[in-house]
Amino acid sequence: MILTEDLLKDLISIPSTSGNEIAVAEYIFHFLQQNNFTVEKNWIDEKRFNIIAKVGQPKIYLSAHMDTVSPFIKFSQDQEYIYGRGSCDTKASIASMLIAGINAKNQGLNNFGLIFTNGEESNFDGIKALIKSKTNIPYIIIGEPTSCCPINGHFGILNIKVTATGKAAHTSNPQKGVNAIDLLTDSIIKIKTISFHPETPVSLVKIDGGIADNIVPDTASAVFGLRPSPNDKNDYQKLFNSAINHQNIKIETLIAVPPINFPIPKELNFLGQGQTVKYFTELSFCQNGLVLGPGDIKYAHGPDEKLPKSELSKAVGIYQKIIQKYCF
Ligand SMILES: [Zn+2]
Repeated sequence: MILTEDLLKDLISIPSTSGNEIAVAEYIFHFLQQNNFTVEKNWIDEKRFNIIAKVGQPKIYLSAHMDTVSPFIKFSQDQEYIYGRGSCDTKASIASMLIAGINAKNQGLNNFGLIFTNGEESNFDGIKALIKSKTNIPYIIIGEPTSCCPINGHFGILNIKVTATGKAAHTSNPQKGVNAIDLLTDSIIKIKTISFHPETPVSLVKIDGGIADNIVPDTASAVFGLRPSPNDKNDYQKLFNSAINHQNIKIETLIAVPPINFPIPKELNFLGQGQTVKYFTELSFCQNGLVLGPGDIKYAHGPDEKLPKSELSKAVGIYQKIIQKYCF
């Protein structure tokens, strides 16, 4: 039987930057077939597919993304670490889940599954296609580098655009126009008086306006980027509207991904206390689950991406125990 380290070496050696995951997806698909899982391709478009592998009727899935950021970095190792693109984000999770799945199957465990997705590092089109396909996922463990600690909460994303509409005029006669940039700056000052939740970071991320040095601008806009905390129950579209309430100002929500906070089921209490993080993972698209995987997030995406070898066997043990506790 293949060792987890050798499997990880194979996975790292196949480049799979977002959009170009086909070779690694085929490798994993065949690996699962060879190990007698029921496997299906969940197509995202004509060329790319997620993988769903089942043993019985899954009550729980282990899942990780197959794509990586660029550039490709080839595999290397020393006594302590495995290096290369995807070593921690998230091919170590994939390798550990595959081995844990085989071990669990050999142990006679039933009713679990494995999911491998694409596009996590770009636009989440893999997990979105999977959710759209109505695959029943009662509970999911998402593999990301968390040093094998459970994360069960995420901050959300909320981008709100404020657009001011004025009237153009020559700057020699500004009183004939309505200055949209003036309207916008007044609005920004009012928005800053809103009592945002103390745990929710708020940033003014974008400003646009003006077309020429001699024209009073007729349009200007700003975007606020919020990361709502799971404890934040404010309706910010409403709060922005009431702070401004001006016929020339339009407030629109561009993106709203609500924060999540899933309780850890009692079967998985052995994992310890869950944490809430500000970054975003595929868990935000799922109805229940947690994030846990080998590796340290601080090495993800960097030129020195690496994974402590000791974390690999640790992750295999934890994933196997999760299946065992949850499927009995
Ligand atoms: Zn990543």
